[in-house]
Amino acid sequence: MVNTDARINEIYDVVQKRNPGEKEFHQAVKEVIETLGPVLKKHPHYAEQKIIERICEPERQVIFRVPWVDDKGEVHINRGFRVGFNSALGPYKGGLRFHPSVLLDTIKFLAFEQTFKNALTGLPIGSGKGGSDFNPRDRSDNEIMRFCQSFMTELYRHIGEMTDVPAGDIGVGLREIGFLFGQYKRITNRYESGVLTGKSPTWGGALVRKEATGYGAVFFAEEMLKVRDQSIEGKTCIVSGSGNVAIYAIEKLIHLGAKVVACSDSGGYIYHKSGINLETVKQLKEVERKRIKAYVNEHSDAEYHAEGSIWDIPCEIALPCATQNELGEEAAKTLIDNGCIALSEGANMPCTPEAARLIQHSKIAYGPAKAANAGGVATSALEMQQNASRDAWTFEHTENRLREIMCNIHQDCYETAKEFDLEGNYAAGANIASFRRVADAMLAFGVI
Ligand code: NDP
Repeated sequence: MVNTDARINEIYDVVQKRNPGEKEFHQAVKEVIETLGPVLKKHPHYAEQKIIERICEPERQVIFRVPWVDDKGEVHINRGFRVGFNSALGPYKGGLRFHPSVLLDTIKFLAFEQTFKNALTGLPIGSGKGGSDFNPRDRSDNEIMRFCQSFMTELYRHIGEMTDVPAGDIGVGLREIGFLFGQYKRITNRYESGVLTGKSPTWGGALVRKEATGYGAVFFAEEMLKVRDQSIEGKTCIVSGSGNVAIYAIEKLIHLGAKVVACSDSGGYIYHKSGINLETVKQLKEVERKRIKAYVNEHSDAEYHAEGSIWDIPCEIALPCATQNELGEEAAKTLIDNGCIALSEGANMPCTPEAARLIQHSKIAYGPAKAANAGGVATSALEMQQNASRDAWTFEHTENRLREIMCNIHQDCYETAKEFDLEGNYAAGANIASFRRVADAMLAFGVI
């Protein structure tokens, strides 16, 4: 009989020793493996075959130099990363992040999370992530283009529609995917649409990909509320961030009759009691690429706060959609005290472990990122499907598929948690359901 707790502690110790200083990676691993005890008890062959040990070790990691020249002629050197974490269910799949905070640690935590998220979609995709410590802020279009071209000049060797399919993440949107694809096409002499997702629908991208992560996080919240005989209509909501995920989460919340009163960027947050005007946010962020602070110039009854926390504002539904560890213990206490009923994670790992624990033990319905924000990668897989069949689906059809996938993910997490006597614990349900799916494929392939 395996002592599962001791075994899991041993595995975690090895992960810490083997990946020194990589705190976010440790955090992501711990959050998953500490929920897997009941699975090891039920299926001892996973332990015998060292499936958890294998899942915690990336299949491959590539680190490379990215030299480029700015508009003034100065040379810059950035570092590029691509981690292929697990290919048991399909080619590596996951976004690219361009942000000055990016380290190998960041990419590994994201790629590890992606393993479970991608498995939950039920689609044939493995997991990966990549990016660079390049800071796109205040860079001209030409500088962004030169950076993307240099980045792809190395990355192209490691990707392909059957091998590894990157997409966007923080700092990488339609513009960057365009520059990256252009360089890939040029170097390889191939119009290989399926090598990148998040493309513009005018040249091979799927409709709804841009909206998918934000919409999906709202669909997940809607499903959690349905279980409790509640709905989104009429609820007061807060969405942190004001990037791709946040904007489309706000859009879907408004479609469903909610009022979104606050959003943010890394400089601060805006509070608009009568409800945020989404067109203003889109104009500022998607077109003019300005700071969220500029919102109050258009709406004199709105407030801008450079200090304090967006979560201090009372809300019934919270969607953290900015970045990892953005919502800590204090914010979690405030949300609970203010009567929040649902929290759906649009960003990856936005709650610190302490915050997640508090929320999990409160009355808040808690949708963890790997389930709640899986709509983006799921729609990327639908984009690959359309590229492979040289087809293009309508917005309505694709949104219906997204909604169906999010409902299935919710159901899968809910039922799995129930099977292990953890009803309502979506985090455990998500970890166990996805782990089993990846583990079974790995077992089928033997020790590789
Ligand atoms: P964007 O770059 O489009 O937007 C990120 C937003 O978060 C910006 O408004 C940014 O502000 C803000 N932000 C970043 N750091 C902080 C901070 N410390 N405090 C407050 N705001 C901050 O990225 P995405 O919207 O694509 O990604 C957001 C999150 O969602 C990430 O965790 C990402 O991994 C996750 N995600 C994204 C998917 C996608 O399809 N894009 C898929 C699944 C998950 P500023 O401009 O000032 O930096």
